[in-house]
Amino acid sequence: MKITSIDVRNIRIPLNDPKKFSTKYVTHRDYTLVNIKTDDGVEGWSYVWGIPIVKNFLDMVKDMIIGEPAYGTIRIWNKIFSSIDRWDRSGIAMRGLSAIDIALWDIIGKYANLPIYQMLGGFREECPSYYSGGYYPDSCSSNADLFRFIEKEMGSAYDKGFRAFKMKIGAASTDIDVERIGAARKAIGPDCRLMLDANCGYDPETIIAMARKFEKYDITWLEEPVPLDDLPNCAHVAERISMPVAIGENHFTRWAFREIMEHKAARIIQADPTVMGGFTEYLNVVGMAATYGLKLAPHCFHDVNIQVALARPEIMILEYMDIESDVINVQRIIENPVPAVNGMIRAPEGPGHGLILDEKAVKKYLYQG
Ligand SMILES: [Mg+2]
Repeated sequence: MKITSIDVRNIRIPLNDPKKFSTKYVTHRDYTLVNIKTDDGVEGWSYVWGIPIVKNFLDMVKDMIIGEPAYGTIRIWNKIFSSIDRWDRSGIAMRGLSAIDIALWDIIGKYANLPIYQMLGGFREECPSYYSGGYYPDSCSSNADLFRFIEKEMGSAYDKGFRAFKMKIGAASTDIDVERIGAARKAIGPDCRLMLDANCGYDPETIIAMARKFEKYDITWLEEPVPLDDLPNCAHVAERISMPVAIGENHFTRWAFREIMEHKAARIIQADPTVMGGFTEYLNVVGMAATYGLKLAPHCFHDVNIQVALARPEIMILEYMDIESDVINVQRIIENPVPAVNGMIRAPEGPGHGLILDEKAVKKYLYQG
């Protein structure tokens, strides 16, 4: 079970209809793919979303794991982390480490002939998800278009069986956003969950004033209200608005999450195993959240993150991004993308994470930049 090779590739997949949200304009998505082979022919793979430089990081550290046992997830995590922690403990390094860790768990599952969730606790067989969308697409050229778009998008997700929904705020004026939220609430009715994502776009006083205008729509959480590292002000917001705050999709390692919890900056922890350090590190955060009585709602990449969501009851819900919403598009390189059925998600068939890479599609989107 010794690791003999690690192969790293970048791909870039364009969006069909580029989109805005409060702090960004998105025209394409970049992913880094990792394939790890062992001396007895078992191979695991993973992908992480990010920027192409993640490949440079992986090319730099990959020799460190050649010859290591593939079951040594903690040993390998510690070895790489202790070699790079003076330079990077966040976005690039942790995406790289996440990719290695998830590919290793894929190998371990294939050896054991078990899905990963059954090895991590096997708490349940399906997990609720929420439909995540509500962007500001280029194809909407007026406010009326935006209202029609969100009502139609959320209404059609409701018809597919979703009962929880999330939308962006912040790429239009607050008054327009209030109307967009109203249109979404009208489309899904009074009994469904509705969440708002601010993508770190605000200072505390502005978002507090905005949240007061949104609260009549019964909001389940407000996500990333203020800049990422400003945890004291995130706690300040959380104390002053009626809806819970959710953060964590852009935080990395157990130590960053300890800071969030000690500051009381959020009630809902959105740690994403595919970016924050892999399944191995995510389990440390789940244990911590459990002791603080907090819930977890992993950021998207439900097709991988379903493995921890089925293993641990502390995960309240998974983010689901449908290929049709044209926001996250990694499904284009996966032969068996994982659907939500009536809003519920199950693990794909098969050992490991169960996902099958579509090599023909990978060739189409290979990116050398
Ligand atoms: Mg978000």
